[in-house]
Amino acid sequence: MSRIFEITERVASYAPKADIDLINRAYVFAAHAHAGQTRVSGEPYITHPLAVADILASLGMDESTVITGLLHDTVEDTSVTLEDIEHHFGADIARLVDGMTKIGQIHFHSKEHKQAENFRKMILATAKDIRVLIVKLADRLHNMRTLGFMREDKRRIIGEETLQIYAPLAHRLGIHWIKQEMEDLVFSYLEPDAYNVLLGEIHDRLEGLNQTRERLEGIIQQALQRHGLDAKVQGRMKHLYSIHEKMQRKHIDFNEIFDLVAFRIIVNDLTTCYQALGVVHSLYRPVPGRFKDYIALPKPNGYQSLHTSVIGPENFRIEVQIRTEEMHSYAEEGVAAHWVYKEGDGGDSQDTFKWLKQLTELLQETENPGEFLENVRLDLFVQEVYVFSRDGDIFPLPRGARPLDFAYAVHTEVGHHCVGVRINGEIADFSTRLRNGDQIEVMTSPDQSPSRKWIKFVKTPRAKQAIRQWFKRQEREACIRIGENILRESLGKKDVGKAVLEQLQCADSDELKIRIGRGEIAVHRLLEVVGRDSILPLKLMGMKRTLMHAAECCHPIPGDPVLGQFSSGEGMVLHHRKCPSISEQESKDFLEVEWEAQAGQLFKTGIEVRSRNRRGMLASVTQCIASASSSIEDLKLKQRGGAVTELLFLVEVEDRAHLARVLRSIKAVDGVVRVVRRNQVGLSGKPESRALAETLRDFFSRKQLSKSDKNKEIKS
Ligand code: MN
Repeated sequence: MSRIFEITERVASYAPKADIDLINRAYVFAAHAHAGQTRVSGEPYITHPLAVADILASLGMDESTVITGLLHDTVEDTSVTLEDIEHHFGADIARLVDGMTKIGQIHFHSKEHKQAENFRKMILATAKDIRVLIVKLADRLHNMRTLGFMREDKRRIIGEETLQIYAPLAHRLGIHWIKQEMEDLVFSYLEPDAYNVLLGEIHDRLEGLNQTRERLEGIIQQALQRHGLDAKVQGRMKHLYSIHEKMQRKHIDFNEIFDLVAFRIIVNDLTTCYQALGVVHSLYRPVPGRFKDYIALPKPNGYQSLHTSVIGPENFRIEVQIRTEEMHSYAEEGVAAHWVYKEGDGGDSQDTFKWLKQLTELLQETENPGEFLENVRLDLFVQEVYVFSRDGDIFPLPRGARPLDFAYAVHTEVGHHCVGVRINGEIADFSTRLRNGDQIEVMTSPDQSPSRKWIKFVKTPRAKQAIRQWFKRQEREACIRIGENILRESLGKKDVGKAVLEQLQCADSDELKIRIGRGEIAVHRLLEVVGRDSILPLKLMGMKRTLMHAAECCHPIPGDPVLGQFSSGEGMVLHHRKCPSISEQESKDFLEVEWEAQAGQLFKTGIEVRSRNRRGMLASVTQCIASASSSIEDLKLKQRGGAVTELLFLVEVEDRAHLARVLRSIKAVDGVVRVVRRNQVGLSGKPESRALAETLRDFFSRKQLSKSDKNKEIKS
């Protein structure tokens, strides 16, 4: 069992200026907070934080990290708050403890390998400070050492998670011994039979192996000395899990593994590394293709060493690693070796960036230096958020991603039909930014389809492209349908002749349809070619709402005589035939359209009301509009001379008949002297008047407005 004085003594040995008193206080604080709690083993709970702090001290971590080890479970498991921690131990330690608490809430369930990679990244993103991750590794290492007290099923879950997530993270950070110990522990708990067999076989051969090890250590040591090189030679057994893995991977028996013992030569400087290599190669014949120079080209996690394999005595294959003392401590402790306590280097906030950079670099486990550099530049780590689906799958998304990005990441169809999302169980807006660890549930409806406004709410190219493509496809279909109708009207039952195609420079009838539908070939030009004067107006029934827009300049409504023009990206734009923005000349290029109302679709149009001034006049008129099942989109007041006020409304109606009902009912209001439709209202969307209109709508017609509002919410 670890004791606090052993920990403080160890910290004092490598960091003489460390605040030992603060470490002691953290111990008392944690012991007090965990008082009465026991571990599954029956031991007092405080033994766990003590063991974690001990591991951290053995890694030579700074005092804040060691203290975080002591406090790491207080916020999650006791009544202690983060504020308490900050009050007693400062903001830096509070941040580290908070990071630990957050990581503690993430659990890995998926069996999928590729999910494990995302999960590891998510942990890195959540940890923010690499020290949090090191505390987490120490925490998990101690939990693994005491896993035997856990129930079988829990052992399996924690063991799998350790093997998939934490051992690889220890490897990424270069803390090699933690990786190996974790792997051996997982192996012993999850495959106890295989583990015990292997342990037995090694035990049987241990004497022989030890003799070989000692003999070879001596031979190599002497050879190096003869060449005047000062070096330490250490033989060591491979760890059990790596032997087991090799047996599995190569389908071989234990007896077929020859490199159970590996040798390490530790020298004083870099040049000696290469000299020692020369000595080893002159002593034993090297195995071709096994030499690797990780000094000149370090591994992505920073590891440096020379690796070689030679054929030793009795054809014994021997692996040899050669490195300096410094490289050795990095190889064993990785990033922790860099995190040595620096005297006088008090704060760490200025180091945050350095940490992020280091983490980003460590994240890259690629052998390709070009890719490596590119990934560092992209700053992968800080640019991503990791969110969960309802089933627990993890999706990496760019920072700033929103719910629709997630829906489209799941599947294009899920995106297209998305009517809403729940984030962590609560309904959320499409504009909500996703955060690390959010769990997202997408609600879909077969009736839903993308809206142009969605583009504003997506960040990922995938979602943007999917939405744009949907509209493109819809437009293409609409163009073909419109073109088809026009062709049928102008040709009757005749087929499109070659002559017509040639004159209009189209390869086939499909191209002709699309180009007519898009308005690239004007209808009058088509009629010229086929020799007709006019055709019946085009019927717009059944055309999707997303593909037609009433022009804002003249606000036509169904039933009005309208002209249509296909505009790329917007679909069919409908203008009132008398719209002043269409000149006589241009109108030839527009399509004549017959526009009928469709249930549930509302269009904006303007109304002008003149009334005598009286109290409550505005209220009477707005209420009247509301009770005629229309809604006010905008409103303007104009004081005319004398006692007359002019009111301009932008209202939503289904069609002309509906508008007529609205006008009639306004006319019946006491004091109204004149009501007319005004096509050019010049109102649409001035913020001040909109706000007023909204207040009024809200006040007078909550019930029937809520119906149309709901439609809008779903569409937007
Ligand atoms: Mn813990």
